[in-house]
Amino acid sequence: MEQKGILIVVSGFAGTGKGTLMKELLQRHPEQYALSVSMTTRSPRPGEQEGVEYFFTDTEAFEREIEAGGLIEYACYCDHYYGTPRAYVNRQLSAGKDVILEIEVQGALQVKEKFPNTVLLFVVPPSAQTLYDRLKGRGTESGEVIAARMKRALEECAYIPQYDYILINDELSVCVEQMHHIIQSEKFAAVRNAAFIENIYCDLRNLSV
Ligand code: 5GP
Repeated sequence: MEQKGILIVVSGFAGTGKGTLMKELLQRHPEQYALSVSMTTRSPRPGEQEGVEYFFTDTEAFEREIEAGGLIEYACYCDHYYGTPRAYVNRQLSAGKDVILEIEVQGALQVKEKFPNTVLLFVVPPSAQTLYDRLKGRGTESGEVIAARMKRALEECAYIPQYDYILINDELSVCVEQMHHIIQSEKFAAVRNAAFIENIYCDLRNLSV
């Protein structure tokens, strides 16, 4: 099958374990997937490294990148810019890798509009109560921050119907394999195999005379 890589967007509420899910997927299938590294104007958190979690930059440089068309999508989230650099994604897709963008909903919908074959996945907890308990259980956030996260989750929930699949992150290892299967099944979608179908059609026509 003449398949280039698939573009995949993963979004989800804060506290649903998206980051861990991505790490595990890449560890299990390193030859298959590439994770895009975004550009952001927010400051690095302790332990975050330039070029690993993000490319950290300032507003001026970010806006120059927008102007130059260097980003596939971008959004303003919590007063900071976040965007996906185009070059890396294109390179990996051409090399046949399935490229994952872990981005929020506004960016996800921009990508889907520009590239309708993108697969949009939304990670959810098994229940709202689980999300609340997980956020509280971290013990690092104040009641106010937890309330703000729950409110944002409610807002983001309204966008889930525009996604292609939900991933229920109850048990990590099950969720990772489900994600892998969804993506790999997408490779057999007729719409992604137009050249193969056209080929077989032509050959059948030649052999049928
Ligand atoms: P954080 O600051 O916690 O790392 O990320 C905040 C939010 O920005 C998360 O929902 C994350 O998925 C999203 N995000 C990260 N990179 C990008 C990006 O390149 N574009 C968009 N639209 N959102 C992003």
